[in-house]
Amino acid sequence: MQPMPTLCDLVIVGAGLAGSLVARRMAEAGMRVVVLEARHKVGGISARGGGLAILGTPEPYMELMERVGREEPAQIWLLTQRNLDLLRSQADELAVEVRRVGTFRPVWGDAAARALQKSVALLSADGFAASLEDATELGLAVGLQTQDDLLFDPLLLVEAALEHPRITVQTAAEVKTLEWHGEAWDIWTGDLFVRTKALVLAGGGHVVHLDAGLAAYLSTMPLQVIKGVTDAQGLSHPLILDAGRVLALTVGSHWQLSSWLSAAEADPWARLTQTAEQFCPEIRVVERYASWVARSADGLPVVGSLPKSPQLYTVGGLGPWGMSWAFVAVDHLVAMMLHDAELGLLDIGRFARD
Ligand SMILES: Cc1cc2nc3c(=O)[nH]c(=O)nc-3n(C[C@H](O)[C@H](O)[C@H](O)COP(=O)(O)OP(=O)(O)OC[C@H]3O[C@@H](n4cnc5c(N)ncnc54)[C@H](O)[C@@H]3O)c2cc1C
Repeated sequence: MQPMPTLCDLVIVGAGLAGSLVARRMAEAGMRVVVLEARHKVGGISARGGGLAILGTPEPYMELMERVGREEPAQIWLLTQRNLDLLRSQADELAVEVRRVGTFRPVWGDAAARALQKSVALLSADGFAASLEDATELGLAVGLQTQDDLLFDPLLLVEAALEHPRITVQTAAEVKTLEWHGEAWDIWTGDLFVRTKALVLAGGGHVVHLDAGLAAYLSTMPLQVIKGVTDAQGLSHPLILDAGRVLALTVGSHWQLSSWLSAAEADPWARLTQTAEQFCPEIRVVERYASWVARSADGLPVVGSLPKSPQLYTVGGLGPWGMSWAFVAVDHLVAMMLHDAELGLLDIGRFARD
């Protein structure tokens, strides 16, 4: 491990996907960066995730339009398209394998099928490649098929991103207090002190504990995950079910299903197991666990500088579909920090304006 510098240019709190990508980009821009990670290893929730980055939002396009108006859905989808481009180029640069898998989003019932038809028409009017496909093989009528979605191993990407001569990573270093004293931030973990000119909070679901202001922008939501084994063939495409609340994919020899069902759901585990059995009746569940992600009120990431806190930035609220946002959110943050660029839809200031 390299010795801790006395005054560094930038400290990143959290070595998940977001923190590691910021560290890499800022190190490439010439900064000396220290990454402080609470756990004994890097990767965070990102390393446990499925590693599927999708085009657009899992929420049907029509529903998104009803919620945010006619123009914004296309802007949101464009951001995720840019995310896929950035993911591909970052992975190329770091020699991490990325697979183009596409995804399939089947729907239940006639009303949902009709709504999906309208969504597909609107998507193609807005220039996105998504098609309506037959889903009778899955016991359902139709589904939305996208082709450009990417699958990768987030842990490999995190580890490769942090491998840079200007990045120092300190694990088992949970940041407990931050204090601005006029020119720099003083940061304490249990047994470490670091002084830095600037600070990025990228602590995922835990970030709300570090800055009281962030709790006003983000809330944490639970995710349930089951892993199962079966002799049956794996899925040809990852499946996005229940308007994006359930993701099913095969990772190596395992089936993995994750869900972010609402707290009102009586027994999310039973529901998830039932869903698994619907697609793979002979599945044997071998692991299940719960996790947490941070989410903003409108479901978009929050990026930017924190009000009234000089040189304090965040990239968070990546939510249950964080792989579809991490690269573009980090790109926006870096452009803002280095070139004062606008943050557009992802700007944390959108909540203050409301
Ligand atoms: C099981 C599961 C499957 C998922 N699958 C997908 C998927 O297929 N596709 C998709 O798009 N999204 C998926 N997600 C969501 C996605 O993983 C998250 O949105 C994303 O990983 C969040 O990245 P992050 O860098 O913000 O947070 P994290 O990866 O959680 O990183 C935050 C890091 O900060 C550290 N930290 C926190 N507080 C402190 C502190 N005070 N001091 C120091 N360090 C601190 C944490 O230990 C952690 O390492 C999944 C999530 C889960 C749980």
